Amino acid sequence: MRSCAREKLERSEEDWKRTLTPEQFRILRQDGTEPPFRNKYWDNHAKGVYLCAGCKSELFSSDTKFESGTGWPSFYEPACDGAVEVTEDKRFGMVRDSVVCARCGGHLGHVFNDGPPPTGLRYCMNSGALEFREE
Ligand code: FE
Repeated sequence: MRSCAREKLERSEEDWKRTLTPEQFRILRQDGTEPPFRNKYWDNHAKGVYLCAGCKSELFSSDTKFESGTGWPSFYEPACDGAVEVTEDKRFGMVRDSVVCARCGGHLGHVFNDGPPPTGLRYCMNSGALEFREE
């Protein structure tokens, strides 16, 4: 995987509130989750790249998207090494690995160890945190 350094984007929560839709704000800035199967990209099979809906940085490629059966868009790896960061999420009585955009810190979803080869990882993302650009 190619590496990509992301310059940090600092923006006040007030600014985010003004520039994001309420749903994007809820997911990206308040660690929200959208319902499975009722979101934009879980069944999207078009070729292209998925950008962060907040800061537009490139996060995932359709080349690594797979059918997870979960109802959320799922990828086995990020677009490049450095696109996302993983932090521990201990809410709801579980320990999960939360995935955030490395540039703006926006919450994207979680990563699990039950993905397909070659990485064995499943990046389970919220469509509302992403913006698809067809290629
Ligand atoms: Fe971002």
